[in-house]
Amino acid sequence: MATNGVNGNHSKGNAAVEDIVIVGGSLGGLFAGVALKYHGYNTIILERTPQFLLENQGAGIVAGGDTIKFFEKYDRSEKPCAVPSFKRIYLNQKGDIIHEEVNRQNMTSWDLAYYLLRANYDRVDSAYLEGGKLPEVRDGDGKVDYRYGCTVTSLEDEGEYVTVHFKRKLEDDSEVENSLKTKLLIAADGPSSTIRALFEPEIEREFAGYCVIRGTVPETEASQEALDVFRERFCFFHAPGIQNLTYTIAGKNGDTTPGNRLLNFVWYANFPEGSEELEKIMTDKDGRRRRITIPPGMISWDAWELLKSKAVERLPPQMAEMAHKSKTPFVQAITDVISPKNLYMSDKVVLVGDALAGFRPHTVASTSQAAFDVMSVADWLDGKIDRTQFVKQVMQYARLIQYRGKYIGNRSQFESREVREYIDDRNMMSIPRWDLEYPEWTQKGLDSI
Ligand SMILES: Cc1cc2nc3c(=O)[nH]c(=O)nc-3n(C[C@H](O)[C@H](O)[C@H](O)COP(=O)(O)OP(=O)(O)OC[C@H]3O[C@@H](n4cnc5c(N)ncnc54)[C@H](O)[C@@H]3O)c2cc1C
Repeated sequence: MATNGVNGNHSKGNAAVEDIVIVGGSLGGLFAGVALKYHGYNTIILERTPQFLLENQGAGIVAGGDTIKFFEKYDRSEKPCAVPSFKRIYLNQKGDIIHEEVNRQNMTSWDLAYYLLRANYDRVDSAYLEGGKLPEVRDGDGKVDYRYGCTVTSLEDEGEYVTVHFKRKLEDDSEVENSLKTKLLIAADGPSSTIRALFEPEIEREFAGYCVIRGTVPETEASQEALDVFRERFCFFHAPGIQNLTYTIAGKNGDTTPGNRLLNFVWYANFPEGSEELEKIMTDKDGRRRRITIPPGMISWDAWELLKSKAVERLPPQMAEMAHKSKTPFVQAITDVISPKNLYMSDKVVLVGDALAGFRPHTVASTSQAAFDVMSVADWLDGKIDRTQFVKQVMQYARLIQYRGKYIGNRSQFESREVREYIDDRNMMSIPRWDLEYPEWTQKGLDSI
């Protein structure tokens, strides 16, 4: 039985009171669940979504270094999770290639990563496992429990334990109050984290002055001109107030076979706070003004017409084509948020992933951060690193990437620069985490956490 530096022993296989509670059952929560299961810890995931499976937004994620590392270390499904891109290319507005460089990068899709993690955590079988297998149970694995429809509302410090209060949704839509005791709670409840807000009520997500419009188009529906620049390439376009990147991701059920994949576009456009256009874009088809996200299928006809006409006016033709052909686009307001600390309640509460720091998507590091935070928690629990090292590595990374995301995002959206400078910015974000150099300020105050 492993002992550890965090509140003593978290036990492998004992009473429920010893189970580690994870709040949030998206990628961050599942990274935590899978890593801890395979390290022998019992876990309970509390996810507020009332369905057994989270709804796929059908969009791509760039699988950064730590996402790949996580799957290499823990995945037992043996299903490839990424589509490689071999080149980065930059287009001008006419759609001509103005710069290209060899640069391998891995792209995956949110749903493929999600289903592989569910297969590893609670052995959810799905078509995403085709070409791989349902992971086997091994001696020494921790017990797992994925509870959906459970919204955590508050925490109570009880010395050695923390009591987690949550509302559980029943099938008839009624709710019951429930609670659990744990010695360790991992908060993976995303950028609008309830847990973070309990400790840092004044920290809020701040709108950055622009939105991202996202969507996918099947390879088979794209023109030859579009395939020529997007297939297995990471393709960029910059213009004042605009950035667009498009790349190939896995298709239906995680299919990475050429011809069955999707082209994924990510288009940043400025919409100033208070502007009429922002109101139009962020008001869904039912007339509800949403603060952060218009999910797939909810964009209003007016807003989509406005965006499509902007696409034709401002984007290279291959990228405008993606906007026109996408059937389920969605919009997200870009925000910044970071917590000053990752440990609370005498180390019984740990923030990870977007709950700790919600990065701008230009960093292509959100999922990687969640994977890194969780692998760091596992190392801390197993005594491979001490508390000081744990806090330092996680917080310095969160601070640096958050700062860089704001820096490159603002340069790209609000300044007019030579393409070369944007290329340099992008290349800066591709430095592997283990090669990063941390400025002095990223350490400030960490000793007192
Ligand atoms: C359904 C979904 C689809 C996504 N699709 C994409 C995508 O296509 N491309 C992309 O780049 N990124 C996507 N993301 C974001 C991406 O997962 C994250 O940026 C990154 O992986 C870090 O994940 P996270 O688990 O820290 O945060 P998140 O992914 O935001 O997950 C937080 C989870 O916590 C749950 N939660 C929040 N509050 C509570 C509470 N009080 N009690 C219990 N549970 C709570 C939420 O329902 C959510 O499942 C998606 C996120 C979600 C939730």
